[in-house]
Amino acid sequence: MTEPRLLIDSHGRTLRDLRVSITDRCNFRCLYCLPETEAAQNFYRGHWAHLPNPAPIVQQWVPRAHILSFEEIERVIRLGVSLGIQKVRLTGGEPLLRHNVEDLVARIAAIPGLTDLAMTTNGFFFPQKARALRAAGLRRISFSLDSLARDNFKKITGRDGLAEVLESISLAQELGLHPVKVNAVVIRGLNDHEIEALADFAHERDLSMRFIEFMPLDSARAWLKEMVVPGREVLARLQTRFSLRPVPTENPSATARRWAFPDGRGEVGIIAPVSEPFCGHCNRIRLTADGKIRTCLFSVKEQDLRSQLRAGASDDELADWLKGVVWQKEARHHIGEPEFRPPPRSMSCIGG
Ligand code: SAM
Ligand code: SF4
Repeated sequence: MTEPRLLIDSHGRTLRDLRVSITDRCNFRCLYCLPETEAAQNFYRGHWAHLPNPAPIVQQWVPRAHILSFEEIERVIRLGVSLGIQKVRLTGGEPLLRHNVEDLVARIAAIPGLTDLAMTTNGFFFPQKARALRAAGLRRISFSLDSLARDNFKKITGRDGLAEVLESISLAQELGLHPVKVNAVVIRGLNDHEIEALADFAHERDLSMRFIEFMPLDSARAWLKEMVVPGREVLARLQTRFSLRPVPTENPSATARRWAFPDGRGEVGIIAPVSEPFCGHCNRIRLTADGKIRTCLFSVKEQDLRSQLRAGASDDELADWLKGVVWQKEARHHIGEPEFRPPPRSMSCIGG
């Protein structure tokens, strides 16, 4: 009998979901990711009074020569699919900053065996790319939207771009991308007063809203657990306002617990990796823009696939190498524990 060609770790998890960061560059400076703006630093200093002055920004852009080409990305995804990967999400940095991203989408959409291709974007440049992405085979999209108030949006993202993102969300729906998801990272004292308004928005516009706990993945190391609004608090507030009914899921690896509105329009989901970790069922693996494999968002060690690719490794050699890397996937993260160390690179490099 031939050995099954699957990516299995030493904790018995089979990996099915590959997140691919296609650039580490970004046109936004989100306070929870790349808090380089004055507004971000003022928030952390004023509200939480702990950020050193100057802030310890550790962000460094990856040299262009290290960024994987479309050919290299496609090859890794093909290999992943041959090893049981079913779902690919393109992310970044801001994926729409990558030139001709629609060509990459078309290449990936054509890979036999891949059942799900999605993208996470801040949405700013989506109107310019939307039709090409749809024609190339993109079916699902998630937008980041943490505030519906223009000033707060600007404070959070460093960019006066609320109108553009709202336009992008409507356009994605018009083009039939489905589901259109909207991600909001909830931070105490910043946008937690907008939880109900964001849920109203999801209901009115028939969107899948996701409220995400703030994780220690910002480039300034500004995260404090006091800033995290636990998922159960978000849910309690939503339940006070809406008659929500749970949406059952058959996928044990799903990150969100979901609730539908009574009339079936739109839904909300809670992603609570900090207060209610779901590591036991994690089936995800990440490829960074510079070709490093990360077996966990919080991996402190990255595995260098790029040098294997560029040294001329065969597909079989790469598959064996990847299986060995996956076998060592971390059992869980250690946020909140004394030995926890945040990873050296921020979410914008890792790919959310
Ligand atoms: N630039 C794109 C965007 O913002 O949608 C894609 C990359 S971004 C790193 C992917 C997701 O990670 C976004 O939904 C963002 O809200 C989330 N994210 C970034 N930093 C985070 C943090 N510290 N904690 C929780 N989520 C975070
Ligand atoms: Fe850019 Fe996305 Fe990070 Fe915001 S969350 S700074 S949009 S990569």
